[in-house]
Amino acid sequence: MEIKKVLDESQQYIMETYKRFPVIFIKGRGMRLWSVEGKEYLDFLAGVAVNVLGHCHPKVVVAIQKQAQRLIHISNFYHNEYQIKLAKQLVKNSFVGKVFFSNSGAEANEAAIKLLRRHCNQQGSGERYEIITALNSFHGRTMACISATGQARFQQGFEPLLPGFRHVPFNDMEELKKATTDKTAAVMLEPIQGEGGVKVPSEGYFKEVREHCDKNGLILILDEVQTGIGRTGKLFAYEHFDIEPDIMTLAKGLGGGFPIGATIARDEIAKAFEPGSHASTFGGNPLACATALAVLETVTEDGIILSECQRMGTILKNSLLGLKEQFPNIIVDVRGMGLLLGMELTRECSQVVQACFERGILINCTAQNTLRFCPPMVVKEEDIERLISVLHEILTRLS
Ligand SMILES: *Cc1c(COP(=O)(O)O)cnc(C)c1O
Repeated sequence: MEIKKVLDESQQYIMETYKRFPVIFIKGRGMRLWSVEGKEYLDFLAGVAVNVLGHCHPKVVVAIQKQAQRLIHISNFYHNEYQIKLAKQLVKNSFVGKVFFSNSGAEANEAAIKLLRRHCNQQGSGERYEIITALNSFHGRTMACISATGQARFQQGFEPLLPGFRHVPFNDMEELKKATTDKTAAVMLEPIQGEGGVKVPSEGYFKEVREHCDKNGLILILDEVQTGIGRTGKLFAYEHFDIEPDIMTLAKGLGGGFPIGATIARDEIAKAFEPGSHASTFGGNPLACATALAVLETVTEDGIILSECQRMGTILKNSLLGLKEQFPNIIVDVRGMGLLLGMELTRECSQVVQACFERGILINCTAQNTLRFCPPMVVKEEDIERLISVLHEILTRLS
């Protein structure tokens, strides 16, 4: 394969929504990816927090193979056993409610927003519809989701936005209280702001948010698209905060690389959807659900994967903190939970990402100045050592 020709054709035929690295990947296994030229890479990005079990995990591969031979897609006019089984497992592992399946994080959030609107319109006179979300948040790229997102750079050029969203600083209870009016219907937050630079709330924040919602009759929507399915060391990040949401959205890690989204809502909210009110052609099809079920069962079956996520997360975090001590002029902060970690630099970080790429390490840069590390939960200590030694070399050169 002639790389240059392929890259030229990419430019000719693919819309330029991404600035891509000049590499073509053809194979993956666990933490590793191989390019068409045979170069090996260690994947600390995992398809942006998607491949929770690594590339081509045997249980995921077998689930896809088996189901692809039996039944790939049917309409939601009919039942499929895997959709029901997956919904049951999700509810059993989270909170009592019902599930709507879709194909992505944006769609899962879109469903949550539409469900909330319908619930509010049925409950009252339509006066309460506003959703408070956080500044610096990220909720996806549909029109409703960019309107919910609290970052101008995702909204610019797409105005007019959907009305009904109000943004407050993340992790600031006073501002949240001040923004709450008789129009407020819900609060929608990420447990950790992933795209916003891996921003972790202070202890007690979500407990206070929950109390505030209860006191004012607000629905709490948690966007666990990035934090869910074990990434933070618990199956869902809200478990760290000793609360439960009323609606939760999932996607990224749920299918282990196969596209699927899910919106889970308490029964009294879920009933706002009735036949015809919302739908998705592909949502919850047998192949997607059989795959996600295999992922969920593997992540939850004996607790080993989650405890490894915590253990490796601690090792990685401590190693990054070690770098911070050595390079105090470049590294400002190390934060995150489990295997969703960020390292904030005093400067723009794409240069470091590029240097890592050249040395066969995949990471990315969020919020311009924060390196994000979200490897598969099957990451090994020696992979972390390799990452740290490469970062050490790059930072030494920079300082
Ligand atoms: C990635 C992400 C989304 C959007 O998911 P897509 O599958 O890209 O639509 C929404 N919310 C959060 C918190 C995310 O990290």
